[in-house]
Amino acid sequence: MPGLKDKIARRVRAEGPLSVAAFMAMALHDPEAGYYARRNPLGGAGDFITAPEISQVFGELIGLWCADLWQRIGHPDPVLLVELGPGRGVLMQDLLRAAAAVPDFRRALRLYLVEASAVLRSEQGHRLAAAEPYFVADFADVPPGPILLVANEFLDALPIRQLVRGRTEWAERIVALDPADNLVFAEGPESPWLSLLVPPPLRGSPPGTIVEIGPAAAALAGAIAERLTDAPGAALLIDYGYITVTPGPTLSAITGHRRADILEAPGEADLSAHVDFAGVAEAARAAGAAVYGPMPQGSFLNALGAAARLDRLKASADPAQRTALDGGLTRLIDPGEMGNLFKALALTSPGLPAPAGFAVPPSLSGQQPPR
Ligand code: SAH
Repeated sequence: MPGLKDKIARRVRAEGPLSVAAFMAMALHDPEAGYYARRNPLGGAGDFITAPEISQVFGELIGLWCADLWQRIGHPDPVLLVELGPGRGVLMQDLLRAAAAVPDFRRALRLYLVEASAVLRSEQGHRLAAAEPYFVADFADVPPGPILLVANEFLDALPIRQLVRGRTEWAERIVALDPADNLVFAEGPESPWLSLLVPPPLRGSPPGTIVEIGPAAAALAGAIAERLTDAPGAALLIDYGYITVTPGPTLSAITGHRRADILEAPGEADLSAHVDFAGVAEAARAAGAAVYGPMPQGSFLNALGAAARLDRLKASADPAQRTALDGGLTRLIDPGEMGNLFKALALTSPGLPAPAGFAVPPSLSGQQPPR
């Protein structure tokens, strides 16, 4: 929308270039013209599609995962069930349906939805009305207490910074204006302080290398971990991303299921970046949580019994539905589709056994993902 492009240009003229993180925050969340402020981006007719929109098995298995953890943390009543960025509310709808298999859990849970978009809040409110959700704009507004938290494709929407290797030190990659008043990427001044933000194994990269860091995702992981040290609970974070920090920009714009130019029409396209799972895990561990994974989504869903769940659903389905059920789950699990690119990371209060799906052979349990 030209309105938001102009607004960003005016801000650059008044205050100077923006960091990529500040640009991303405006493009996604400007209250009038931000991408999430104005539309429902999900589904076939939208800009992208997510796992719960592809197969109900996804949310159902996560519901059983939560019910199991509720029992392991001593079945607290009440317990906060929190979802970050619930989209159309489909994951939570499937989760709650499966959680009804443990009626005491279903009765004990208080549902908190952390959602920035008014459009999506309204859709979530309708779809999940029976669970009487509370809406908050920020995780910090969730009250204290025992907690089970889930987030699918939330971390990738949090603003990232990009750093560029200059001649001797690193510089911030910024969004500036060219002489014709177009938004363009540029480089700020090199500084040794910026070099310190680059993960050590990448600091010696050749000039021109771009490295992304995710301070917002790391801060959120730290905040969740602090909650888990105050009260019993667990969090399940699923997203696409990398385990070992890798150079190169991953920030991308998507509209109508296709790649778009990042700067061309801010507010019109979704912006997201691969999640640095090592950074998220490190922040959570530093704040006192036990960390499991990241593990590939396909392995995680298989370990939770995806095949058995699929068979049960197929038993009462017609042939066309069976084909759709098979196709949906294959898409989530197949390593060539979403099974490998997407990862699941669990955070728990210290001292709990490994959550379902994350049990690893003892010989590997001491290993941590390299940074
Ligand atoms: N979890 C859903 C939707 C993923 S899209 C699914 O799997 O289908 C990202 C979601 O996060 C949307 O609901 C979006 O409005 C919300 N969101 C993005 N950034 C946010 C922020 N900073 N604060 C709160 N919600 C945010």
